[in-house]
Amino acid sequence: MTAALQPAHPAATTADMPRMRKKADLPSKTCAHCGRPFSWRRKWSRVWDEVRYCSDACRSGRMPKAATGNSGN
Ligand SMILES: [Zn+2]
Repeated sequence: MTAALQPAHPAATTADMPRMRKKADLPSKTCAHCGRPFSWRRKWSRVWDEVRYCSDACRSGRMPKAATGNSGN
């Protein structure tokens, strides 16, 4: 008959954290080009807030290997 008293959680800011955190403590994003998730990289440490693509190829706008909408040339 003991109610399960849960400890009051601290101010958990779950603003934009739909998914659980990965094992790694590194943040992750989703490529705006190929839609694939990619993890934080050291070279993005200074521009991580602006990084939107997983690779330079996607950033350049080039189609990844798994190109969608093949024109069938
Ligand atoms: Zn990509």
